[in-house]
Amino acid sequence: MNWNRKIQVLVGTAAIAAAASLPLPAQLPTPGAPGIPVNPLVGDTSAVAKEAQGWLAELIRINTTNPPGNEQVAAKYIAGILEKEGIKAEILDITPGRSAVVARLRSAVMADPSKALLLVAHMDVVAVDKSKWTVDPFGGVIKDGYLYGRGAIDDKGMLAANLAAFITLKRANLRINRDVIFLATADEENGGEANIKVLIAKYWDKFAAGFSINEGGNIFVKNGKIQYVGVQASEKVSANIDVIARGRSGHASQPTKDNAVVHLALAVGKIGAYTAPVHLTAIVRRYFEGLAPLEDDEIGKWMRSLDTSDRGEHAQRVLSNTSPLWNAMLRDTITPTILTAGVANNVIPGEAHGNLNVRLLPGDTVEAVVRDLTKLVDDSQVKLEVRPNGGLAAPPSSLESDFYGVISKVASQEFSGVPVLPFQSTWATDSSQLRLHNVQAYGLVPFPLTEEDLKRMHGDDERIPLAAFNKGIDVLARIVAEFAAAR
Ligand SMILES: [Zn+2]
Repeated sequence: MNWNRKIQVLVGTAAIAAAASLPLPAQLPTPGAPGIPVNPLVGDTSAVAKEAQGWLAELIRINTTNPPGNEQVAAKYIAGILEKEGIKAEILDITPGRSAVVARLRSAVMADPSKALLLVAHMDVVAVDKSKWTVDPFGGVIKDGYLYGRGAIDDKGMLAANLAAFITLKRANLRINRDVIFLATADEENGGEANIKVLIAKYWDKFAAGFSINEGGNIFVKNGKIQYVGVQASEKVSANIDVIARGRSGHASQPTKDNAVVHLALAVGKIGAYTAPVHLTAIVRRYFEGLAPLEDDEIGKWMRSLDTSDRGEHAQRVLSNTSPLWNAMLRDTITPTILTAGVANNVIPGEAHGNLNVRLLPGDTVEAVVRDLTKLVDDSQVKLEVRPNGGLAAPPSSLESDFYGVISKVASQEFSGVPVLPFQSTWATDSSQLRLHNVQAYGLVPFPLTEEDLKRMHGDDERIPLAAFNKGIDVLARIVAEFAAAR
């Protein structure tokens, strides 16, 4: 979609823009309810959404805590659902017990990978602290309108929604003008030996595509209303730095000035108080421009001032202090996460280690961060070493592609005209590897979620509101159908 058409869509939706300020239940009309038109391409999705609730509960019951992952069990379960629909599914084995699963709806005898659309979600989940949960994290329990369980929003909810959108397209028997590929990946949370990089190296021809939709962006609910839809088009890059302090070991009864524990603590203290300079990427600039009118006047004013020479610095400070997310979108961040030192209460150790988790803006390098921090620490007893296996920066996806246009149009229509903003996530996803393979990759978990629900991601009592899940399936099915249907 080109820029002019985008403006027409925006003007067209302006008439219903007032509806964007409606409270959440009014923004989540069920398709088929009186006055709510059923989309002609995919029809009423409420029945498939009900089925997908069952798939999600079942996927939660399949424990894919990573490590060890054991995604093969989930892959086989998904393959079974697809086979029942008459769709051939292929299990792609990566390492023992760890597999991906792929399936394809063909548009022509000869596939054109550059046009294909890839629906991607990961099957593995992070560990739980069972004692902190009020329900069985692997029970798939429904309570008070929520489906609870590890993975409900990260990422088995989207996995089930992708499956529903894919199956809806098959059932609708639409003529499509591009292949649509379903892919469930392994080892996203740990980025280890079964991750998407390995999968691409082994099986790229099975799912090569020009466009993809994955997790990474969200539909943000604030004060009971959908505030905006954030479509991830870029992401920060993760790296780790080992801070190593060395000194003479000895008897704790005779303290020395070169104690490695003390030097490590001082270095980490300085690093913790340090703030990296602001660097506005094109996507973050567009994000704040779009968000400014949605925030209160004061915050909106600072968002508009971000790039000015006289008030820019103050604006950056105000926004960074207001929101940890905004702070992390504006700059590289350096977070101390692990300290290790000492062997006994009465021994001065000769070495002490600290880990820094670094999140780089695309374009920035970890070597530059090491240089800056070395200067800041200014201690010959302390060395900083980059750990191997850091992420790779990928080029951002285009905000002018047809697929970005379709996502924006459908999301805006489905949510009564709420703004759709490009989003640069502070977290990493499988999409960066896809972008490195020339895929226009976008992130959008299609469920409207409150901050309170988003915080449960990787936390205790993770859950998804069923109304949001159903709505998300309608949104996603429409996005996929609108982009793939031949006209
Ligand atoms: Zn995830």
